[in-house]
Amino acid sequence: MKPFAFARPGSVAEAVRQVAAEPGAVFLGGGTNLVDHLKLGVATPELVVDVRRLTSREISDLPDGGLRLGAATTNSEVAADRRVRERYPVLAQALLAGATGQLRNLATTGGNPLQRTRCVYFQDVTTACNKREPGSGCSAVNGYTRYHAVLGVPSAMPDPTAPETCIATHPSDMAVALAALDAVVHVLGPAGERTIPFGELHRLPGDDPSRDTVLGHGELVTAIDLPPLPDGARSAYRKVRDRASYAFALVSVAAVVAGDSTSERTVRIALGGVAHKPWRAARAEELLRGTPLTEHAVGHAMGVELTTAQPQPGIDGGNGFKIPLATRTVVATLRDLTRET
Ligand code: SF4
Repeated sequence: MKPFAFARPGSVAEAVRQVAAEPGAVFLGGGTNLVDHLKLGVATPELVVDVRRLTSREISDLPDGGLRLGAATTNSEVAADRRVRERYPVLAQALLAGATGQLRNLATTGGNPLQRTRCVYFQDVTTACNKREPGSGCSAVNGYTRYHAVLGVPSAMPDPTAPETCIATHPSDMAVALAALDAVVHVLGPAGERTIPFGELHRLPGDDPSRDTVLGHGELVTAIDLPPLPDGARSAYRKVRDRASYAFALVSVAAVVAGDSTSERTVRIALGGVAHKPWRAARAEELLRGTPLTEHAVGHAMGVELTTAQPQPGIDGGNGFKIPLATRTVVATLRDLTRET
């Protein structure tokens, strides 16, 4: 491990100042992802600034009926909170589908959505990776692609030598639920405070795969707000993975269904395991607005949503299976949510 300086400042503002002043500085929350990267040599910071004891560890009610999750609340605390379980079951279920109990006791609300891809090449410093080392290429193309993206990628088998190529997926379950809930991220940075709609926090690789989010250097997540859902709304998270525990999603679905009658019905669908960011299925949502959620209708809507999907070949058989799997997982999730109504 490369030596680094360690700081434990006395305030959030001081932590932001310290990181902003040092280009090689990073924040440390729960450390469940960063510490691995320090050991692997994936992250080589000059300075690590511990913010775990600085940001709020409270879950508080908002005047509009929503909830505010302090950035230092742990995944276990949020998943166990009665208000979260009753009002936002999709979030509690997503959290409990992630990692293990030990990791959830450390991982934080501020850090979980910022965890980095588990692309095996990103974590192997002997291989080319545009995300870890910009311009070096992408070893995943036609490699092990089972856990890689089918949405938001330009083609099946993009140019592995191009500096913009990256077919990684975002690994967080929590982030998929927050995308479906239209959460709002509070950030403090060197230029002050700002809020970011959760759907705009993560980005596609674009011309710079090294950047996972729109956060600037020195910007710290201080809280995440959950807006209230309409009365009677139901939500759920479903995750498909290679084993029952401690595995990342091949495909996951966070869904919210609202509306007393079919004509008033609205559906929110976010997909995990298929793109560089939690993928809001906006086209499918629009097609399903005010319609009966029959298997045929949902299948058709997802077929439209996935017309741009690009199955990636690979030495492990590729990931084309994700396209029908995504549709089936959405069908099953919405069927469960509407079964009792
Ligand atoms: Fe790196 Fe992205 Fe390619 Fe994986 S998919 S090797 S993270 S550039």
